[in-house]
Amino acid sequence: MRGCAFCSAPLRHTLVDLGMSPLCESYLTPDQLDGPETFYPLHAYVCGECFLVQVPQYVRPEEIFTEYAYFSSYSDSWLAHARAYVEMISARFRLTSASQVVELGSNDGYLLQYFVQRGIPVLGIEPARNVAAAAIAKGVQTEVRMFGRETAQGLVARGLRADLLLGANVLAQVPDVNDFVGGMALLLAPDGVATIEFPHLMRLMAEGQFDTIYHEHFSYFSLLSAERIFAAHGLAIFDVEELPTHGGSLRIFARHARQGPGDATERLKDLRRRERDAGFERLETYAAFTQTVHECKRRLLEFLIEARRAGKRIAGYGAPGKGNTLLNYCGIREDFVEYTVDRNPYKQGRFLPGTHIPIHAPEKLAETRPDYVLILPWNLKNEIIEQLAYVREWGGRFVVPIPRVEVLE
Ligand SMILES: [Zn+2]
Repeated sequence: MRGCAFCSAPLRHTLVDLGMSPLCESYLTPDQLDGPETFYPLHAYVCGECFLVQVPQYVRPEEIFTEYAYFSSYSDSWLAHARAYVEMISARFRLTSASQVVELGSNDGYLLQYFVQRGIPVLGIEPARNVAAAAIAKGVQTEVRMFGRETAQGLVARGLRADLLLGANVLAQVPDVNDFVGGMALLLAPDGVATIEFPHLMRLMAEGQFDTIYHEHFSYFSLLSAERIFAAHGLAIFDVEELPTHGGSLRIFARHARQGPGDATERLKDLRRRERDAGFERLETYAAFTQTVHECKRRLLEFLIEARRAGKRIAGYGAPGKGNTLLNYCGIREDFVEYTVDRNPYKQGRFLPGTHIPIHAPEKLAETRPDYVLILPWNLKNEIIEQLAYVREWGGRFVVPIPRVEVLE
């Protein structure tokens, strides 16, 4: 039996079993359609000891992260989010040209570029070579490597400590959470601040966001489980923000626990209370989730079957990781969704893993005028509907698949 990634207790309790699924970022070229494709179990567990929700590691991280198709800068709202963060954090912690900012999982420099504009020294750590190259090209100093204790020790040996250590949507994607948070504790300056963002498990469960579960996401945190892990590495969380990004995320603020307890903010205490009240320290709470997922699948298939029977044509928008979990788990192929479109040229001309739905440039929508556009990255639905306002000119409507099928007129 597999052990918990944090506390090593045997994993006995299922959150949800999504069956077999290919790696969600392995988009296929036309040549690859004729070959075999590797599927891995996509089974999320909750640890009965520490309540960390996790997908056990079935795949070597090198297979996932060395050539990654996700470029943060293709999302306008994500860029705006990054810029707002840089303004807020620079003011709150008085960052200057004498400060050192380090971002873990810095992607294509989408965030650090705003610190560079302010003359604040930055270093990005990014394991995906192709994505890191894009950051370096825009003047963001970046090291191509995985982050953990070893990388942190190497940086500290070179005299580097982080006054601000940040990570947005990276902690969830780390296979060895102890090595990562342990590395953070090494790299963080004695009076430095770390901020980490991750999708909030409470929102995932309340809103049936099972499609955010995929092999590249190893951990799914509540505030309570994150606090337990950080505390084990000498880091204390002193503040938290609830953000709308990715269907509901947390941004936690941490510092060395030896700095003293400090003042936990009211909003931190309030969220701890709400999670305890919602049962995040009881197994029954987690056991109920499977039924939520089954119902999401039935609703979506019901909608698609009725629409196709009525002769309606359906296209997808976007080719995000979450779309691949949704489509593979529900068994949705070209029989329901003719094609999908994506702004990222890397994905255009390729096919979704598992379902083999073709990916085109967004112009395809105007050429074929589908009746429905199924929005796969539903967390960006407002931005997408704005970009695609022209779909309504031919009577096309937008469909949000999760948590219940929502048709937007
Ligand atoms: Zn555990």
